Amino acid sequence: MSTRPQFVPTIALSLVFLGSAAPLAAQVAPVPAPPAPAGPVVILADRALDGRGNVVRALRIGVANGRITSLAAPLKGVRVIDLRGSTVMPGFIDTHVHLDSHWDRTGRIATEKEPPMEAATGIALAGWETLMGGFTTVQTVGDPTEKPLRDAIRDHGFPGPRVLTSLAWVEGDSTSSDDSLRAMVRARKAQGADLIKIFASTSQRVGAKPTVSQAQLAVMCGEAKALGMRSMVHAYRSQVSAAALAGCNQVEHATYASKEDIETAVRAGTFLSPQVGLVVQNYIANKARYIGVGNYTDEGMATMDRDLPLDFSVCRMMVATPGAKVVFSTDATAGAHGRNAEEFIGRVDHCGQTPMAALTSAQSLAAQALGMGDQIGTLASGYAGDIIALDGDPLTDITAVRRVVFVMRGGVVYKWAGAKGGR
Ligand SMILES: [Zn+2]
Repeated sequence: MSTRPQFVPTIALSLVFLGSAAPLAAQVAPVPAPPAPAGPVVILADRALDGRGNVVRALRIGVANGRITSLAAPLKGVRVIDLRGSTVMPGFIDTHVHLDSHWDRTGRIATEKEPPMEAATGIALAGWETLMGGFTTVQTVGDPTEKPLRDAIRDHGFPGPRVLTSLAWVEGDSTSSDDSLRAMVRARKAQGADLIKIFASTSQRVGAKPTVSQAQLAVMCGEAKALGMRSMVHAYRSQVSAAALAGCNQVEHATYASKEDIETAVRAGTFLSPQVGLVVQNYIANKARYIGVGNYTDEGMATMDRDLPLDFSVCRMMVATPGAKVVFSTDATAGAHGRNAEEFIGRVDHCGQTPMAALTSAQSLAAQALGMGDQIGTLASGYAGDIIALDGDPLTDITAVRRVVFVMRGGVVYKWAGAKGGR
């Protein structure tokens, strides 16, 4: 009898614990994403670009629940955003950035030795600067640290552009077996990557040499496709045509490529991504902040500077090739975030592209490259409420892309500086 007072409560406690464990676990599921503003709001625009190469006038763009509902919305009983006097268009899309690349507190390129809290803030800041520069969607291709930012923006309303990421890139060499290459691609998918980024050449700073064969590229890009993912390949010289023939979706840089390499890629329907307006110029302007880390050497920087005119001529070759899909891709690293639009100016000044073609390369064409051609990059009913406005007319003065006065993403207004304001 003396054990009873102890025994009974023990049983009772166990039952309480077992009975409540499952409901408690269910209560701590991930917090749902905040809904987009219900609206409706109506944006008044007297001059707009539709993202597909057309100038459109006198629009009343209705936005509700994060989407464009109409280009001739009724004005009665709605909140009005008056952007008349500016040039209104779909938010820009940059298919190649490196949000993880940022300055540390000393002003130098951050390394893995940076305290994690400072790294996280630096990466988030890169996203914010990019959004303020008018880029409502970016594809960031190279580091696992970009995933938490993507998820915070997508799932928790954290301010920033819509982010797609490859996580760490996939890099093999001539000795890599097909199975090991496929395993690397599958691992990225399992880790949550949106696309696969593949290195087919070493950095331009260390010789731009091929690292894998066309057959190996076919294995990697084929595996990505089988998993329902896109592939993007960092390639120079004849690796450009190799990646195109291997069925990869997008080829970056293409420095030192021949006319035949470009024509091969165009015939294959590969998206091509030259850089002429920002990345190299930014490296040179900030050389002292980069030198001494990784492959950032004086010699490597000198090679990029020397060969920049070759990038211009490759870009000119691309835009002169009928049917080429020359998509917007800055390769922005530390110092370049928020200035992505400089690439438009480079396209016009150094590549011979028209302002309209340069702009659409970051709108409907970039959306296609991301496999999101029916969701973003176009000003039309049913598309995302990703809308920006520039002070000035970029068709007559491309430097207007530096003067982003309004940014809405998914129906949320992040910037509204007034038509005469600067950035
Ligand atoms: Zn890159």
